[in-house]
Amino acid sequence: KMNKDLGQHMLKNPNVAQAIVTKAGLKQSDRVLEVGPGTGNLTHLILKATTAPVTAVEMDPRMAAELTKRVQSTPADSKRLTILLGDVIKTTLPHFDVCISNTPYQISSPLVFKLLALDPAPRVCILMFQREFALRLFAKPGDKLYSRLSVNAQMWAKISHVMKVGRNNFNPPPAVESSVVRLEPKVPRPQISYEEWDGLLRICFVRKNRTLRAAFLGTSTVLEMLGANYRLWCAQNDVPIDDAPVTEIGDEDVVMDVVEEEEEEEWDGIMDVDDEDELPDFFKEEAKKAQAGKGNPNRKRKGKLAELVREKVRKVLEDETELADRRARLCDEGDFLKLLYAFNNEGIHFC
Ligand code: SAM
Repeated sequence: KMNKDLGQHMLKNPNVAQAIVTKAGLKQSDRVLEVGPGTGNLTHLILKATTAPVTAVEMDPRMAAELTKRVQSTPADSKRLTILLGDVIKTTLPHFDVCISNTPYQISSPLVFKLLALDPAPRVCILMFQREFALRLFAKPGDKLYSRLSVNAQMWAKISHVMKVGRNNFNPPPAVESSVVRLEPKVPRPQISYEEWDGLLRICFVRKNRTLRAAFLGTSTVLEMLGANYRLWCAQNDVPIDDAPVTEIGDEDVVMDVVEEEEEEEWDGIMDVDDEDELPDFFKEEAKKAQAGKGNPNRKRKGKLAELVREKVRKVLEDETELADRRARLCDEGDFLKLLYAFNNEGIHFC
């Protein structure tokens, strides 16, 4: 019986299973992590290719039991294999050199980020995903599927397509086609904060076809959030906000600033679930707080701060990076990095 929620589509074509393991280029001494071993179609090939410990994380106890039974006939293998029962996302992983997985698709995104956050990083990960998820992982600027996921993943890893795998290689066949992807974490790991980086990308990709000027200056929510972060940063760094040269303003600070939304270009309607999502709750909270502060005596100071932050943001976009008119869908990793450094330089932070 299959448990639908666990994405239990077993690989039934032994040639595909072998190809996946071969593509990992395993050395005998490699410690391997397998995510979701199921009945062990990949596991037994991994055990054949190595002599080092293998760890398999499986959520379904029935599958774990079946796998245990399968390797029992080869005592040397069963001694080397550790089966961890549980959700891989919540499991503390042992150190390993290579990860191999016919991934349960509903954990694709968290699994990728868990693997990319590991320090020390594995040498290589060979992962099966739904075709569209795979395409989004290695999409380049301008590609239809280029998204926050693409920029994020490519920041920490070199990603390449290994092979397509049709639905009928699985039992039961999944609804969509699959692809195997190779993920090679960059060494050394880029020394930037994941939270800052992802915070910046979230703003840029709320609508990826909008200019960065509109993304940052066209919504009061974003400016309010950046303002709150800036105030905190000033407090932590002993920067007196009132010393900054600002102009007196009235009510504008909380009024939605209307920057002409550019005519949306012809767009194919493919939704990037990850990108078109709403701003994180944190942003909304900050916006609410700012609204609530309307009638209070600190209002004038708040107005100054809002004006100061707006000017900093404008300066970064227009003068320092000259990226104001660019759209997220056409910006590469280098553009976003430039943007992050310029913002941080002005004391503007994203988390
Ligand atoms: N590796 C086997 C194969 O290729 O034939 C099975 C792959 S099947 C697509 C995914 C497996 O991952 C299932 O056995 C499922 O029970 C397991 N699984 C699902 N969610 C999981 C999670 N969060 N953590 C660990 N294993 C999970």
